[in-house]
Amino acid sequence: MIIIKKVADLQNHLLAQKKEGKKIGFVPTMGALHQGHLSLLKQCIEQNEITVCSIFVNPTQFNNQEDFKHYPKTVEKDIELLVEVGCSVLFLPSTDEIYPPGFQPRKYDLGDLETKWEGQYRPGHFQGVCQVMDRLLSIVDPDRLYLGQKDFQQCMVIKKLEKDIFHDRTEIKIVPTQREKDGLAMSSRNLRLSAEQRQKATAIYQSLLYIKEQTGTQANDALTTTATSILNDAGFSVDYVTVVQQETLMPIAVQDGQPAVALIAATIGNIRLIDNMILN
Ligand code: AMP
Repeated sequence: MIIIKKVADLQNHLLAQKKEGKKIGFVPTMGALHQGHLSLLKQCIEQNEITVCSIFVNPTQFNNQEDFKHYPKTVEKDIELLVEVGCSVLFLPSTDEIYPPGFQPRKYDLGDLETKWEGQYRPGHFQGVCQVMDRLLSIVDPDRLYLGQKDFQQCMVIKKLEKDIFHDRTEIKIVPTQREKDGLAMSSRNLRLSAEQRQKATAIYQSLLYIKEQTGTQANDALTTTATSILNDAGFSVDYVTVVQQETLMPIAVQDGQPAVALIAATIGNIRLIDNMILN
């Protein structure tokens, strides 16, 4: 694996690979890699001659500076994992490489995706996600982009960004959420849970399973109310539990066969976790 820190070096390297007809797959991350990230990388490595992984903790997508400050950094371990899995290129840019002096962020039109759910609780978050993804996609220009279903709304936002700005140049692959044995979705933020919080955190998966198992038996409001109680009983404060249409993320009142997904965001201690489950 080669490690590249400069945008120009990465572009030169990838241009040479593209000239040889090699397909480029791209896995953007913020590091602190775990099996969830590795499942994206494994699929990418299987499907492309060149796999580029980026590690960049993007400051513009953090609406909470404490969260940014405490975001785990484990670069040495990440490099070992990337070598082990067979990644071709690690792109490890500085903030100045991604946002050079004078960089003018544009405003992305995301419609309702920007203000609903995560957008409501993390103002500015998806503009930041779009800024970094716009930059990274322009730099890497991949044939395929790998995203985790774990961040369901982010997948929809990046799909829209890709369509609006890059016009389907890049194929987007959404990879299922990897979970711990007790169902907790793998996340870099899990590292910050105490042993007790870690145990209680399984309530998120339990609530999602409850909604999935009971789908269609009651109105979705009733299901999300019970799911909220499961979370509250475990000590979570709940931002939202909702059942929505998969593409638009608009609420569905009664299950009527539309493609639906249950979304949850909840905080334990000061650690905010999100998860989701496809219902049909
Ligand atoms: P992050 O480093 O949190 O920005 O995540 C980088 C990519 O890994 C994103 O596309 C995430 O959705 C994906 N990802 C994070 N956790 C998981 C997981 N448990 N299962 C599958 N993909 C994940």
